[in-house]
Amino acid sequence: MAKITAVKCIRTRVNGTWGIVKILTDQPGLYGIGSASDHYHQDAVIQAIETMIGPRLIGRDADRIEDIWQSFYTSGYWRNGAITNTALGGIDMALWDIKGKEAGMPVYQLLGGACRSAVPCYAHAGGSTPEALAEAVQAYLDEGYPVVRCQLGGYGGGGFLPSNKTSRPENAWQSDKVFDDEAYLDAIPAMFEYLRSTLGFGPKLTHDVHEHLRPQSAVALSKRLEPYRLFFLEDVLPPEQIQWYRLIREQCTTPQAMGELFINPHEWMPLITERLIDYIRVRVSKVGGISPCRKIAALCETFGINTAWQEGGDNDPVNQMAAVHLDMASWSFGIQEENHFRQDEYDTFPGHAILKGGHIYPNDSPGLGIDIDEALAEQLLVEHEVKTPRYAAEDRRADGSVVRP
Ligand SMILES: [Mg+2]
Repeated sequence: MAKITAVKCIRTRVNGTWGIVKILTDQPGLYGIGSASDHYHQDAVIQAIETMIGPRLIGRDADRIEDIWQSFYTSGYWRNGAITNTALGGIDMALWDIKGKEAGMPVYQLLGGACRSAVPCYAHAGGSTPEALAEAVQAYLDEGYPVVRCQLGGYGGGGFLPSNKTSRPENAWQSDKVFDDEAYLDAIPAMFEYLRSTLGFGPKLTHDVHEHLRPQSAVALSKRLEPYRLFFLEDVLPPEQIQWYRLIREQCTTPQAMGELFINPHEWMPLITERLIDYIRVRVSKVGGISPCRKIAALCETFGINTAWQEGGDNDPVNQMAAVHLDMASWSFGIQEENHFRQDEYDTFPGHAILKGGHIYPNDSPGLGIDIDEALAEQLLVEHEVKTPRYAAEDRRADGSVVRP
């Protein structure tokens, strides 16, 4: 029986925004790693692990994953915060890694075994014009991706107007461009009109709104996109307005994906049990790791919803591997967001998942199958980048008010 002897965090990537938990045991060479990355609050997550959770784990049995998860879920009295969820998520993954190594099996075997041979992914295609976007989409289709996300540039792309073309107050705060719902409602259906006219209806396409619209505009966009038969429309509403999904369901059949900002079961429960969305998109680490996600996947199976675990560009290879193990063993899996890394980042994580031809392949090594080279992890860090604070984008409307997220 392995006892936990130490819990530490390894910070890596150029900007130090990847936090990898390492749990050591009293068994020679037996340890596990997990993802506790937070692009904006990495210091706070590491603090939670090293000063609060870690010390209380010393001496516990490493095989009691569920008991450790349940006891630490409420150990800070308040729960479901992004920081504590992420800390617990990293611990949970590391414990599953240890359990797999003890069993001599990959984690997906412990979750019930493979129910697919590999994990289909969707790629991120972007272009500043529909023509450039169509070329990017075609390139991903040629590469083998079964699904492609289609964006006119970055967050809110297609919805920005030059400030001098809008009605602004004379003391306007915004200097160059502003976000406008009506512009977005025109641009995105036109974008899909072009994509369908050039690529046909064969390719499976998605679009991510990044919660930029007002709720009534979200209903309108979902309806206007219905003729283009999306694979799904992502984050058309912010987490604060999820009740509006009922109105969207009454209006159209555009499939809906939601959840990458969710941290609380009360956010995803009604959307799943009332069948108000089609794909749940929580990030594995942000809801507390593999343990809660396997329960979400089971709930999804009951209600006919699919999983599409979030894997944005700020995610690390360990969180990706945790998602892949869930994907391999979950019948309710729908699609996996792709994520790829620099070669020196791949080199830092021996055993990382292999992304090839639009599919991700795990390996059959015991545990998560991924490790961290701590010397290379330290070499990746650039001090001034690590010390630079990071914030989410701050888009604004013509009157100066902030657009969510
Ligand atoms: Mg998204």
